[in-house]
Amino acid sequence: QFPFGRRLPCDIYWHGVSFHDNNIFSGQVNKFPGMMETVRKITLSRAMRRMQDLFPLEYSFYPRSWILPEELSLFVAEVRMIKDSNPSWKPTFIVKPDGGCQGDGIYLIKDPSDIRLTGSTQSRPAVVQEYICKPLLMDKLKFDIRLYVLLKSLEPLEIYIAKDGLSRFCTEPYQEPTLKNLHQVFMHLTNYSLNIHSGNFIHSDSVNTGSKRTFSSILCRLSSRGADVKKLWSDIISLVIKTIIALTPELKVYYQSDIPAGKPGPTCFQILGFDILLLKNLKPVLLEVNANPSMRIEHEQELSPGVFENVPSPVDEEVKVAVIRDTLRLVDPQKKKRKDTQCLLYPGTADGKFQLKPVTIQVKSGMKDKQHKHHSLKLSLKLKFYLKLGSCQSWEQAPGPSEELPDAAPSPEAALPSLCLKQVFPKYAKQFNYLRLVDRVAALFIRFLGVKGTTKLGPTGFRTFVRNCKLSNSNFSMAAVDILYIDITRRWNSMGIDHKESGMCLQAFVEAFFCLAQKKYKARPLYEQVALLVDQCECRLADLQGKRLLWGCG
Ligand code: ADP
Repeated sequence: QFPFGRRLPCDIYWHGVSFHDNNIFSGQVNKFPGMMETVRKITLSRAMRRMQDLFPLEYSFYPRSWILPEELSLFVAEVRMIKDSNPSWKPTFIVKPDGGCQGDGIYLIKDPSDIRLTGSTQSRPAVVQEYICKPLLMDKLKFDIRLYVLLKSLEPLEIYIAKDGLSRFCTEPYQEPTLKNLHQVFMHLTNYSLNIHSGNFIHSDSVNTGSKRTFSSILCRLSSRGADVKKLWSDIISLVIKTIIALTPELKVYYQSDIPAGKPGPTCFQILGFDILLLKNLKPVLLEVNANPSMRIEHEQELSPGVFENVPSPVDEEVKVAVIRDTLRLVDPQKKKRKDTQCLLYPGTADGKFQLKPVTIQVKSGMKDKQHKHHSLKLSLKLKFYLKLGSCQSWEQAPGPSEELPDAAPSPEAALPSLCLKQVFPKYAKQFNYLRLVDRVAALFIRFLGVKGTTKLGPTGFRTFVRNCKLSNSNFSMAAVDILYIDITRRWNSMGIDHKESGMCLQAFVEAFFCLAQKKYKARPLYEQVALLVDQCECRLADLQGKRLLWGCG
Protein backbone atom coordinates (compact mmCIF):
# COMPACT_ATOMS: atom_id res chain seq x y z
CA GLN A 1 0.00 0.00 0.00
CA PHE A 2 1.42 3.34 -1.06
CA PRO A 3 -0.64 6.00 0.64
CA PHE A 4 1.60 8.92 -0.30
CA GLY A 5 2.54 8.29 -3.86
CA ARG A 6 4.22 5.52 -5.72
CA ARG A 7 7.63 5.44 -7.26
CA LEU A 8 7.75 2.09 -8.99
CA PRO A 9 5.13 0.59 -11.28
CA CYS A 10 2.86 -1.98 -9.63
CA ASP A 11 1.55 -5.31 -10.81
CA ILE A 12 -2.00 -4.61 -9.67
CA TYR A 13 -3.69 -1.31 -8.91
CA TRP A 14 -6.69 -1.76 -6.64
CA HIS A 15 -8.72 1.41 -6.93
CA GLY A 16 -11.64 2.24 -4.69
CA VAL A 17 -13.91 4.10 -7.07
CA SER A 18 -12.93 4.43 -10.69
CA PHE A 19 -10.20 3.88 -13.24
CA HIS A 20 -9.18 7.53 -13.18
CA ASP A 21 -7.06 7.67 -10.08
CA ASN A 22 -3.62 7.97 -11.62
CA ASN A 23 -1.51 7.90 -14.72
CA ILE A 24 -0.74 4.23 -15.12
CA PHE A 25 1.28 2.78 -17.96
CA SER A 26 1.55 -0.92 -17.12
CA GLY A 27 0.17 -3.62 -14.84
CA GLN A 28 -3.52 -4.27 -14.22
CA VAL A 29 -6.19 -1.96 -12.83
CA ASN A 30 -9.26 -3.33 -11.05
CA LYS A 31 -11.58 -0.86 -12.82
CA PHE A 32 -12.50 -0.29 -16.45
CA PRO A 33 -12.61 3.28 -17.73
CA GLY A 34 -16.23 4.40 -18.00
CA MET A 35 -17.73 1.49 -16.04
CA MET A 36 -19.38 3.76 -13.46
CA GLU A 37 -21.03 5.80 -16.21
CA THR A 38 -22.03 2.69 -18.19
CA VAL A 39 -23.91 1.00 -15.34
CA ARG A 40 -25.73 4.08 -14.06
CA LYS A 41 -29.46 3.48 -14.01
CA ILE A 42 -30.24 5.58 -17.09
CA THR A 43 -27.33 4.35 -19.21
CA LEU A 44 -28.04 0.75 -18.30
CA SER A 45 -31.73 1.19 -19.17
CA ARG A 46 -30.79 2.71 -22.53
CA ALA A 47 -28.40 -0.11 -23.31
CA MET A 48 -31.00 -2.72 -22.34
CA ARG A 49 -33.71 -1.00 -24.40
CA ARG A 50 -31.44 -1.05 -27.44
CA MET A 51 -30.94 -4.79 -26.98
CA GLN A 52 -34.68 -5.29 -26.36
CA ASP A 53 -35.38 -3.54 -29.68
CA LEU A 54 -33.06 -5.97 -31.43
CA PHE A 55 -33.74 -9.13 -29.42
CA PRO A 56 -37.04 -8.73 -27.51
CA LEU A 57 -37.25 -12.32 -26.30
CA GLU A 58 -33.64 -12.70 -25.25
CA TYR A 59 -33.73 -9.47 -23.22
CA SER A 60 -37.10 -9.94 -21.53
CA PHE A 61 -35.27 -10.35 -18.18
CA TYR A 62 -35.07 -6.57 -17.79
CA PRO A 63 -38.26 -4.78 -16.65
CA ARG A 64 -39.90 -2.34 -19.03
CA SER A 65 -38.34 1.07 -18.24
CA TRP A 66 -38.66 4.72 -19.25
CA ILE A 67 -36.24 7.59 -18.71
CA LEU A 68 -37.44 10.71 -16.93
CA PRO A 69 -37.98 13.49 -17.66
CA GLU A 70 -37.32 13.00 -21.39
CA GLU A 71 -39.71 10.06 -21.84
CA LEU A 72 -42.45 11.17 -19.50
CA SER A 73 -45.02 11.66 -22.24
CA LEU A 74 -44.03 8.37 -23.86
CA PHE A 75 -44.44 6.64 -20.47
CA VAL A 76 -47.90 8.18 -19.97
CA ALA A 77 -48.98 7.29 -23.51
CA GLU A 78 -47.71 3.70 -23.39
CA VAL A 79 -49.31 2.99 -20.03
CA ARG A 80 -52.61 4.42 -21.25
CA MET A 81 -52.42 2.33 -24.41
CA ILE A 82 -51.76 -0.92 -22.53
CA LYS A 83 -54.51 -0.15 -20.00
CA ASP A 84 -56.97 0.54 -22.82
CA SER A 85 -56.19 -2.75 -24.49
CA ASN A 86 -56.13 -4.68 -21.20
CA PRO A 87 -58.39 -3.09 -18.54
CA SER A 88 -57.50 -5.80 -15.99
CA TRP A 89 -53.85 -4.64 -15.97
CA LYS A 90 -53.26 -2.92 -12.62
CA PRO A 91 -49.58 -2.06 -12.73
CA THR A 92 -47.28 -0.56 -10.14
CA PHE A 93 -44.16 1.38 -11.08
CA ILE A 94 -40.93 2.06 -9.23
CA VAL A 95 -39.17 5.41 -9.71
CA LYS A 96 -35.40 5.35 -9.18
CA PRO A 97 -33.24 8.48 -9.36
CA ASP A 98 -30.26 8.16 -11.70
CA GLY A 99 -26.96 7.69 -9.90
CA GLY A 100 -28.78 6.84 -6.66
CA CYS A 101 -27.85 3.87 -4.51
CA GLN A 102 -28.97 2.09 -1.35
CA GLY A 103 -32.62 2.76 -2.15
CA ASP A 104 -32.00 6.52 -1.98
CA GLY A 105 -34.96 8.53 -3.37
CA ILE A 106 -36.83 5.44 -4.62
CA TYR A 107 -40.63 5.38 -4.46
CA LEU A 108 -43.52 3.36 -5.85
CA ILE A 109 -46.49 4.71 -7.80
CA LYS A 110 -49.71 3.30 -9.16
CA ASP A 111 -50.30 5.89 -11.85
CA PRO A 112 -47.98 7.95 -14.08
CA SER A 113 -49.60 11.12 -12.74
CA ASP A 114 -48.07 10.35 -9.32
CA ILE A 115 -44.53 11.04 -10.52
CA ARG A 116 -43.00 13.78 -8.40
CA LEU A 117 -41.70 16.19 -10.97
CA THR A 118 -41.12 18.98 -8.54
CA GLY A 119 -38.01 20.36 -6.92
CA SER A 120 -34.98 18.13 -6.91
CA THR A 121 -36.56 15.32 -8.95
CA GLN A 122 -36.91 17.65 -11.88
CA SER A 123 -33.22 18.41 -11.88
CA ARG A 124 -32.41 14.78 -11.12
CA PRO A 125 -33.15 12.40 -13.96
CA ALA A 126 -34.62 9.03 -13.04
CA VAL A 127 -35.73 5.71 -14.41
CA VAL A 128 -39.32 4.61 -13.98
CA GLN A 129 -39.75 0.89 -14.22
CA GLU A 130 -42.48 -1.67 -14.12
CA TYR A 131 -42.56 -2.98 -10.54
CA ILE A 132 -42.31 -6.76 -10.18
CA CYS A 133 -45.41 -7.44 -8.07
CA LYS A 134 -45.07 -11.19 -7.67
CA PRO A 135 -41.51 -11.94 -6.56
CA LEU A 136 -40.53 -15.30 -5.12
CA LEU A 137 -40.91 -15.15 -1.33
CA MET A 138 -39.10 -17.05 1.35
CA ASP A 139 -40.47 -17.11 4.88
CA LYS A 140 -43.12 -14.69 3.48
CA LEU A 141 -40.38 -12.12 2.78
CA LYS A 142 -39.19 -10.55 -0.46
CA PHE A 143 -35.47 -10.97 -1.13
CA ASP A 144 -33.00 -10.26 -3.89
CA ILE A 145 -29.72 -11.82 -4.94
CA ARG A 146 -26.35 -10.12 -5.17
CA LEU A 147 -24.06 -12.04 -7.47
CA TYR A 148 -20.43 -11.20 -8.08
CA VAL A 149 -19.19 -11.23 -11.64
CA LEU A 150 -15.61 -10.76 -12.76
CA LEU A 151 -15.16 -9.04 -16.10
CA LYS A 152 -11.60 -10.23 -16.60
CA SER A 153 -11.09 -8.80 -20.05
CA LEU A 154 -13.05 -6.83 -22.60
CA GLU A 155 -11.13 -7.86 -25.71
CA PRO A 156 -11.31 -10.85 -25.88
CA LEU A 157 -14.41 -10.97 -23.70
CA GLU A 158 -13.85 -13.03 -20.55
CA ILE A 159 -16.51 -13.34 -17.86
CA TYR A 160 -16.50 -15.29 -14.60
CA ILE A 161 -19.40 -15.75 -12.17
CA ALA A 162 -19.05 -16.51 -8.48
CA LYS A 163 -20.69 -19.79 -7.49
CA ASP A 164 -22.18 -18.22 -4.40
CA GLY A 165 -23.71 -14.84 -3.71
CA LEU A 166 -25.79 -13.07 -1.09
CA SER A 167 -29.55 -12.99 -0.56
CA ARG A 168 -30.78 -9.84 1.10
CA PHE A 169 -34.14 -9.99 2.79
CA CYS A 170 -36.86 -7.47 3.45
CA THR A 171 -37.90 -7.19 7.08
CA GLU A 172 -41.71 -6.87 6.76
CA PRO A 173 -43.86 -9.69 5.32
CA TYR A 174 -44.55 -9.01 1.65
CA GLN A 175 -47.91 -7.98 0.27
CA GLU A 176 -48.63 -7.07 -3.30
CA PRO A 177 -48.53 -3.28 -3.68
CA THR A 178 -51.66 -1.36 -2.74
CA LEU A 179 -52.14 2.36 -2.23
CA LYS A 180 -51.91 1.67 1.51
CA ASN A 181 -48.58 -0.18 1.57
CA LEU A 182 -46.72 1.51 -1.32
CA HIS A 183 -44.56 3.56 1.03
CA GLN A 184 -43.49 0.64 3.22
CA VAL A 185 -39.83 0.34 2.30
CA PHE A 186 -39.13 -2.62 4.62
CA MET A 187 -41.75 -4.59 2.67
CA HIS A 188 -40.81 -3.59 -0.90
CA LEU A 189 -37.11 -2.69 -0.99
CA THR A 190 -34.52 -5.33 -0.25
CA ASN A 191 -31.59 -2.94 0.31
CA TYR A 192 -29.45 -4.02 3.24
CA SER A 193 -28.68 -0.37 4.03
CA LEU A 194 -32.42 0.30 4.56
CA ASN A 195 -33.51 -2.90 6.28
CA ILE A 196 -30.67 -2.78 8.77
CA HIS A 197 -32.60 0.07 10.40
CA SER A 198 -35.70 -2.08 10.89
CA GLY A 199 -36.28 -3.54 14.34
CA ASN A 200 -36.93 -6.88 12.60
CA PHE A 201 -33.47 -7.14 11.03
CA ILE A 202 -31.80 -10.42 12.06
CA HIS A 203 -28.00 -10.67 12.14
CA SER A 204 -27.22 -14.32 12.05
CA ASP A 205 -24.04 -16.30 12.56
CA SER A 206 -25.42 -18.92 10.22
CA VAL A 207 -25.27 -18.49 6.44
CA ASN A 208 -28.79 -19.88 5.97
CA THR A 209 -30.88 -17.87 8.39
CA GLY A 210 -31.38 -14.17 9.15
CA SER A 211 -31.82 -11.13 6.94
CA LYS A 212 -28.68 -11.78 4.88
CA ARG A 213 -27.97 -15.32 3.71
CA THR A 214 -25.87 -17.04 1.12
CA PHE A 215 -27.52 -17.63 -2.24
CA SER A 216 -26.47 -21.28 -2.02
CA SER A 217 -28.63 -21.66 1.10
CA ILE A 218 -31.63 -20.39 -0.90
CA LEU A 219 -30.82 -22.84 -3.69
CA CYS A 220 -30.72 -25.68 -1.15
CA ARG A 221 -34.19 -24.74 0.12
CA LEU A 222 -35.52 -24.47 -3.41
CA SER A 223 -33.98 -27.76 -4.41
CA SER A 224 -35.52 -29.50 -1.39
CA ARG A 225 -38.91 -28.21 -2.62
CA GLY A 226 -38.21 -29.85 -5.97
CA ALA A 227 -37.27 -26.72 -7.93
CA ASP A 228 -35.06 -27.07 -11.00
CA VAL A 229 -31.98 -25.33 -9.63
CA LYS A 230 -29.83 -26.24 -12.64
CA LYS A 231 -32.22 -24.42 -14.94
CA LEU A 232 -32.20 -21.41 -12.59
CA TRP A 233 -28.39 -21.27 -12.72
CA SER A 234 -28.35 -21.53 -16.46
CA ASP A 235 -30.91 -18.67 -16.69
CA ILE A 236 -28.77 -16.56 -14.36
CA ILE A 237 -25.62 -17.24 -16.39
CA SER A 238 -27.42 -16.25 -19.54
CA LEU A 239 -28.76 -13.06 -17.89
CA VAL A 240 -25.22 -12.10 -16.84
CA ILE A 241 -23.66 -12.77 -20.25
CA LYS A 242 -26.43 -10.91 -22.09
CA THR A 243 -26.17 -7.93 -19.76
CA ILE A 244 -22.42 -7.67 -20.25
CA ILE A 245 -22.89 -7.99 -24.00
CA ALA A 246 -25.23 -4.98 -23.76
CA LEU A 247 -22.56 -2.98 -21.90
CA THR A 248 -19.45 -3.80 -23.93
CA PRO A 249 -19.99 -1.36 -26.85
CA GLU A 250 -19.93 1.65 -24.52
CA LEU A 251 -17.04 0.23 -22.51
CA LYS A 252 -14.96 -0.25 -25.65
CA VAL A 253 -15.41 3.40 -26.61
CA TYR A 254 -14.20 4.51 -23.18
CA TYR A 255 -11.37 1.99 -23.29
CA GLN A 256 -9.88 3.14 -26.59
CA SER A 257 -10.12 6.71 -25.40
CA ASP A 258 -8.33 6.12 -22.09
CA ILE A 259 -5.96 3.38 -23.14
CA PRO A 260 -5.25 4.03 -26.84
CA ALA A 261 -4.08 0.98 -28.75
CA GLY A 262 -0.37 0.96 -29.48
CA LYS A 263 0.56 3.12 -26.49
CA PRO A 264 1.82 1.78 -23.16
CA GLY A 265 -1.07 1.28 -20.81
CA PRO A 266 -2.46 -1.12 -18.25
CA THR A 267 -5.02 -3.85 -18.79
CA CYS A 268 -8.22 -3.83 -16.74
CA PHE A 269 -10.48 -6.20 -14.86
CA GLN A 270 -13.45 -5.49 -12.61
CA ILE A 271 -15.67 -7.15 -10.07
CA LEU A 272 -19.31 -6.21 -10.66
CA GLY A 273 -22.29 -6.72 -8.36
CA PHE A 274 -25.40 -7.97 -10.16
CA ASP A 275 -28.70 -7.42 -8.32
CA ILE A 276 -31.27 -9.99 -9.37
CA LEU A 277 -34.85 -10.67 -8.32
CA LEU A 278 -36.53 -14.04 -8.78
CA LEU A 279 -40.11 -14.28 -9.98
CA LYS A 280 -42.46 -16.87 -8.49
CA ASN A 281 -41.75 -19.10 -11.50
CA LEU A 282 -38.00 -18.73 -10.72
CA LYS A 283 -37.32 -16.55 -13.74
CA PRO A 284 -34.46 -14.15 -12.84
CA VAL A 285 -34.99 -10.42 -13.43
CA LEU A 286 -32.12 -7.93 -13.53
CA LEU A 287 -32.53 -4.97 -11.19
CA GLU A 288 -29.18 -3.29 -11.56
CA VAL A 289 -25.45 -3.65 -11.99
CA ASN A 290 -23.15 -2.18 -9.39
CA ALA A 291 -19.66 -1.03 -10.45
CA ASN A 292 -18.41 -0.76 -6.87
CA PRO A 293 -20.10 -3.53 -4.89
CA SER A 294 -19.41 -3.37 -1.18
CA MET A 295 -16.72 -5.80 -0.09
CA ARG A 296 -17.27 -5.28 3.63
CA ILE A 297 -17.09 -8.44 5.68
CA GLU A 298 -18.08 -6.82 8.94
CA HIS A 299 -21.16 -5.02 10.13
CA GLU A 300 -21.71 -2.37 12.76
CA GLN A 301 -23.30 -3.40 16.01
CA GLU A 302 -24.57 -0.97 18.62
CA LEU A 303 -23.13 -2.23 21.90
CA SER A 304 -24.73 0.45 24.02
CA PRO A 305 -26.57 3.59 22.90
CA GLY A 306 -24.24 5.48 20.56
CA VAL A 307 -21.37 2.99 20.93
CA PHE A 308 -20.72 0.95 17.80
CA GLU A 309 -18.36 -1.89 17.09
CA ASN A 310 -17.48 -3.69 13.86
CA VAL A 311 -18.25 -7.37 14.20
CA PRO A 312 -17.47 -10.08 11.64
CA SER A 313 -20.27 -11.10 9.31
CA PRO A 314 -19.85 -14.83 8.48
CA VAL A 315 -22.15 -14.63 5.43
CA ASP A 316 -20.22 -11.76 3.85
CA GLU A 317 -16.92 -13.39 4.68
CA GLU A 318 -17.94 -16.71 3.16
CA VAL A 319 -18.90 -15.12 -0.16
CA LYS A 320 -16.63 -12.11 -0.56
CA VAL A 321 -13.29 -13.52 0.55
CA ALA A 322 -13.60 -16.18 -2.12
CA VAL A 323 -14.43 -13.60 -4.80
CA ILE A 324 -11.40 -11.39 -4.06
CA ARG A 325 -9.10 -14.37 -3.60
CA ASP A 326 -10.11 -15.90 -6.91
CA THR A 327 -9.96 -12.59 -8.73
CA LEU A 328 -6.37 -12.18 -7.62
CA ARG A 329 -5.62 -15.75 -8.64
CA LEU A 330 -7.10 -15.23 -12.09
CA VAL A 331 -5.34 -11.95 -12.77
CA ASP A 332 -2.13 -13.13 -11.09
CA PRO A 333 0.66 -11.36 -12.97
CA GLN A 334 3.07 -14.16 -12.08
CA LYS A 335 0.90 -16.83 -13.63
CA LYS A 336 2.24 -16.37 -17.12
CA LYS A 337 5.82 -16.37 -15.93
CA ARG A 338 5.06 -19.42 -13.80
CA LYS A 339 3.65 -21.28 -16.77
CA ASP A 340 6.95 -20.68 -18.55
CA THR A 341 9.26 -21.62 -15.73
CA GLN A 342 6.98 -23.85 -13.62
CA CYS A 343 8.79 -25.06 -10.50
CA LEU A 344 11.76 -22.77 -10.90
CA LEU A 345 9.85 -19.84 -9.51
CA TYR A 346 8.18 -21.74 -6.71
CA PRO A 347 10.44 -24.29 -5.17
CA GLY A 348 8.89 -26.05 -2.20
CA THR A 349 10.60 -25.14 1.05
CA ALA A 350 12.09 -27.67 3.41
CA ASP A 351 8.90 -28.00 5.48
CA GLY A 352 6.89 -28.82 2.39
CA LYS A 353 5.23 -25.42 2.12
CA PHE A 354 5.20 -23.19 -0.91
CA GLN A 355 6.35 -19.64 -1.06
CA LEU A 356 4.35 -17.00 -2.86
CA LYS A 357 6.23 -14.75 -5.21
CA PRO A 358 5.51 -11.21 -3.98
CA VAL A 359 3.19 -9.19 -6.16
CA THR A 360 2.99 -5.43 -5.78
CA ILE A 361 -0.53 -4.19 -5.27
CA GLN A 362 -1.35 -0.54 -4.99
CA VAL A 363 -4.58 0.17 -3.16
CA LYS A 364 -6.01 3.57 -3.68
CA SER A 365 -9.24 4.92 -2.27
CA GLY A 366 -10.88 7.92 -3.79
CA MET A 367 -13.98 8.94 -1.93
CA LYS A 368 -16.02 10.87 -4.42
CA ASP A 369 -19.54 10.48 -3.14
CA LYS A 370 -21.38 9.13 -0.20
CA GLN A 371 -21.75 5.72 -1.79
CA HIS A 372 -18.16 5.18 -0.78
CA LYS A 373 -18.25 6.31 2.80
CA HIS A 374 -17.14 2.92 4.06
CA HIS A 375 -14.28 2.92 1.70
CA SER A 376 -11.14 2.84 3.77
CA LEU A 377 -12.60 0.00 5.79
CA LYS A 378 -13.49 -1.96 2.67
CA LEU A 379 -10.00 -1.46 1.32
CA SER A 380 -8.20 -2.61 4.41
CA LEU A 381 -10.42 -5.67 4.39
CA LYS A 382 -9.52 -6.32 0.80
CA LEU A 383 -5.87 -6.30 1.79
CA LYS A 384 -6.65 -8.75 4.55
CA PHE A 385 -8.04 -11.10 1.90
CA TYR A 386 -4.85 -10.84 -0.01
CA LEU A 387 -2.85 -11.81 3.05
CA LYS A 388 -5.13 -14.79 3.40
CA LEU A 389 -4.25 -15.67 -0.16
CA GLY A 390 -0.63 -15.75 0.89
CA SER A 391 -1.13 -18.17 3.75
CA CYS A 392 -0.66 -21.45 1.94
CA GLN A 393 -1.32 -24.86 3.36
CA SER A 394 1.12 -27.66 2.77
CA TRP A 395 0.96 -29.42 -0.57
CA GLU A 396 -0.17 -32.69 1.04
CA GLN A 397 -3.26 -31.03 2.55
CA ALA A 398 -4.15 -29.11 -0.56
CA PRO A 399 -7.02 -29.98 -2.86
CA GLY A 400 -6.08 -30.86 -6.43
CA PRO A 401 -5.71 -28.20 -9.08
CA SER A 402 -9.05 -26.93 -10.34
CA GLU A 403 -10.27 -27.44 -13.86
CA GLU A 404 -9.66 -23.78 -14.82
CA LEU A 405 -6.02 -23.80 -13.90
CA PRO A 406 -4.57 -27.09 -14.93
CA ASP A 407 -0.97 -26.71 -13.84
CA ALA A 408 1.22 -29.69 -14.48
CA ALA A 409 3.53 -28.97 -11.57
CA PRO A 410 2.53 -27.93 -8.04
CA SER A 411 1.94 -24.20 -7.74
CA PRO A 412 0.77 -22.00 -4.85
CA GLU A 413 -2.72 -22.05 -6.39
CA ALA A 414 -2.90 -25.75 -5.79
CA ALA A 415 -2.73 -25.03 -2.10
CA LEU A 416 -5.84 -22.83 -2.19
CA PRO A 417 -9.50 -23.85 -2.16
CA SER A 418 -10.88 -24.61 -5.61
CA LEU A 419 -12.09 -21.66 -7.64
CA CYS A 420 -15.42 -20.13 -6.74
CA LEU A 421 -15.31 -18.05 -9.91
CA LYS A 422 -16.44 -20.07 -12.90
CA GLN A 423 -15.73 -19.02 -16.43
CA VAL A 424 -18.89 -18.53 -18.48
CA PHE A 425 -17.47 -16.62 -21.41
CA PRO A 426 -15.86 -17.60 -23.79
CA LYS A 427 -16.99 -21.00 -22.47
CA TYR A 428 -20.56 -20.43 -23.75
CA ALA A 429 -19.58 -17.97 -26.49
CA LYS A 430 -21.17 -20.00 -29.28
CA GLN A 431 -24.64 -19.58 -27.79
CA PHE A 432 -24.34 -15.83 -27.34
CA ASN A 433 -22.09 -14.46 -30.08
CA TYR A 434 -25.04 -13.61 -32.35
CA LEU A 435 -26.13 -11.04 -29.74
CA ARG A 436 -22.90 -9.06 -30.14
CA LEU A 437 -24.27 -6.99 -32.99
CA VAL A 438 -24.01 -3.55 -31.38
CA ASP A 439 -20.39 -4.46 -30.57
CA ARG A 440 -19.75 -4.68 -34.29
CA VAL A 441 -21.50 -1.32 -34.84
CA ALA A 442 -19.29 0.12 -32.06
CA ALA A 443 -16.20 -1.25 -33.83
CA LEU A 444 -17.21 0.72 -36.94
CA PHE A 445 -17.77 3.81 -34.80
CA ILE A 446 -14.35 3.50 -33.16
CA ARG A 447 -12.69 3.00 -36.51
CA PHE A 448 -13.98 6.35 -37.75
CA LEU A 449 -13.35 8.30 -34.56
CA GLY A 450 -10.02 9.31 -36.06
CA VAL A 451 -8.13 11.25 -33.41
CA LYS A 452 -7.26 8.91 -30.61
CA GLY A 453 -8.61 9.81 -27.23
CA THR A 454 -12.05 11.02 -28.36
CA THR A 455 -15.40 9.39 -27.69
CA LYS A 456 -17.46 11.36 -30.21
CA LEU A 457 -17.58 11.30 -33.96
CA GLY A 458 -17.36 14.58 -35.90
CA PRO A 459 -19.39 15.30 -39.08
CA THR A 460 -16.39 14.53 -41.31
CA GLY A 461 -15.88 11.17 -39.61
CA PHE A 462 -19.54 10.32 -40.20
CA ARG A 463 -19.34 11.34 -43.86
CA THR A 464 -16.19 9.24 -44.33
CA PHE A 465 -17.96 6.29 -42.73
CA VAL A 466 -20.91 6.64 -45.15
CA ARG A 467 -18.64 7.12 -48.14
CA ASN A 468 -16.22 4.27 -47.35
CA CYS A 469 -19.07 1.88 -46.68
CA LYS A 470 -20.84 3.09 -49.85
CA LEU A 471 -24.09 3.85 -48.08
CA SER A 472 -25.16 6.93 -50.03
CA ASN A 473 -26.86 6.70 -53.40
CA SER A 474 -29.33 8.60 -55.56
CA ASN A 475 -32.07 8.09 -52.95
CA PHE A 476 -29.82 9.06 -50.05
CA SER A 477 -27.54 11.97 -50.92
CA MET A 478 -24.60 13.25 -48.90
CA ALA A 479 -26.75 16.26 -47.99
CA ALA A 480 -29.27 13.84 -46.44
CA VAL A 481 -26.37 12.18 -44.60
CA ASP A 482 -25.42 15.54 -43.08
CA ILE A 483 -29.02 16.19 -42.03
CA LEU A 484 -29.23 12.77 -40.39
CA TYR A 485 -26.00 13.49 -38.52
CA ILE A 486 -27.16 16.90 -37.33
CA ASP A 487 -30.65 15.77 -36.28
CA ILE A 488 -29.57 12.76 -34.26
CA THR A 489 -26.48 14.37 -32.74
CA ARG A 490 -28.40 17.46 -31.65
CA ARG A 491 -31.10 15.36 -29.97
CA TRP A 492 -28.63 13.20 -28.05
CA ASN A 493 -26.57 16.19 -26.99
CA SER A 494 -29.70 18.00 -25.78
CA MET A 495 -30.37 15.09 -23.41
CA GLY A 496 -27.44 16.44 -21.43
CA ILE A 497 -25.48 13.20 -21.23
CA ASP A 498 -21.98 14.50 -21.80
CA HIS A 499 -21.15 18.06 -22.74
CA LYS A 500 -17.41 17.66 -22.45
CA GLU A 501 -16.96 16.91 -26.14
CA SER A 502 -19.00 17.92 -29.13
CA GLY A 503 -20.01 15.45 -31.83
CA MET A 504 -21.90 12.21 -32.15
CA CYS A 505 -21.76 9.79 -29.21
CA LEU A 506 -21.93 6.03 -29.68
CA GLN A 507 -25.64 5.84 -28.80
CA ALA A 508 -26.42 8.49 -31.44
CA PHE A 509 -24.31 6.62 -33.99
CA VAL A 510 -26.15 3.38 -33.22
CA GLU A 511 -29.46 5.17 -33.74
CA ALA A 512 -28.23 6.60 -37.06
CA PHE A 513 -26.99 3.14 -38.04
CA PHE A 514 -30.38 1.59 -37.26
CA CYS A 515 -32.00 4.34 -39.40
CA LEU A 516 -29.72 3.54 -42.32
CA ALA A 517 -30.38 -0.19 -41.91
CA GLN A 518 -34.16 0.36 -41.87
CA LYS A 519 -33.95 2.52 -44.99
CA LYS A 520 -31.93 -0.04 -46.88
CA TYR A 521 -33.56 -3.29 -45.81
CA LYS A 522 -37.22 -2.38 -45.34
CA ALA A 523 -39.81 -4.90 -44.16
CA ARG A 524 -37.43 -7.19 -42.30
CA PRO A 525 -37.07 -7.54 -38.54
CA LEU A 526 -34.73 -4.91 -37.04
CA TYR A 527 -32.15 -7.52 -36.11
CA GLU A 528 -31.85 -8.69 -39.73
CA GLN A 529 -31.70 -5.15 -41.07
CA VAL A 530 -28.85 -4.23 -38.75
CA ALA A 531 -26.99 -7.51 -39.25
CA LEU A 532 -27.14 -7.11 -43.05
CA LEU A 533 -25.87 -3.55 -42.90
CA VAL A 534 -23.03 -4.48 -40.54
CA ASP A 535 -22.03 -7.28 -42.91
CA GLN A 536 -22.07 -4.87 -45.82
CA CYS A 537 -19.98 -2.25 -44.00
CA GLU A 538 -17.41 -4.77 -42.80
CA CYS A 539 -17.15 -6.23 -46.29
CA ARG A 540 -16.68 -2.86 -48.00
CA LEU A 541 -14.09 -1.78 -45.45
CA ALA A 542 -12.18 -5.04 -45.87
CA ASP A 543 -12.22 -4.49 -49.67
CA LEU A 544 -10.95 -0.98 -49.21
CA GLN A 545 -8.19 -2.14 -46.93
CA GLY A 546 -7.23 -4.86 -49.40
CA LYS A 547 -7.02 -2.29 -52.19
CA ARG A 548 -4.94 0.04 -50.07
CA LEU A 549 -2.53 -2.77 -49.31
CA LEU A 550 -2.25 -3.58 -53.01
CA TRP A 551 -1.66 0.07 -53.89
CA GLY A 552 0.92 0.20 -51.13
CA CYS A 553 2.73 -2.78 -52.68
CA GLY A 554 2.37 -1.40 -56.22
P1 ADP B 1 -30.47 1.11 -5.52
O1 ADP B 1 -29.26 1.27 -6.38
O2 ADP B 1 -30.88 2.40 -4.92
O3 ADP B 1 -30.34 0.00 -4.54
P2 ADP B 1 -32.17 -0.68 -7.06
O4 ADP B 1 -32.47 -0.58 -8.50
O5 ADP B 1 -31.27 -1.79 -6.65
O6 ADP B 1 -31.64 0.74 -6.54
O7 ADP B 1 -33.53 -0.82 -6.29
C1 ADP B 1 -33.60 -0.88 -4.89
C2 ADP B 1 -34.49 -2.02 -4.46
O8 ADP B 1 -35.81 -1.83 -4.97
C3 ADP B 1 -34.06 -3.36 -5.00
O9 ADP B 1 -33.10 -3.94 -4.17
C4 ADP B 1 -35.36 -4.13 -5.03
O10 ADP B 1 -35.67 -4.69 -3.79
C5 ADP B 1 -36.39 -3.06 -5.34
N1 ADP B 1 -36.66 -2.99 -6.79
C6 ADP B 1 -35.96 -2.29 -7.71
N2 ADP B 1 -36.50 -2.41 -8.93
C7 ADP B 1 -37.57 -3.21 -8.79
C8 ADP B 1 -38.55 -3.71 -9.70
N3 ADP B 1 -38.54 -3.37 -10.99
N4 ADP B 1 -39.50 -4.53 -9.18
C9 ADP B 1 -39.52 -4.86 -7.89
N5 ADP B 1 -38.64 -4.42 -6.99
C10 ADP B 1 -37.66 -3.59 -7.42
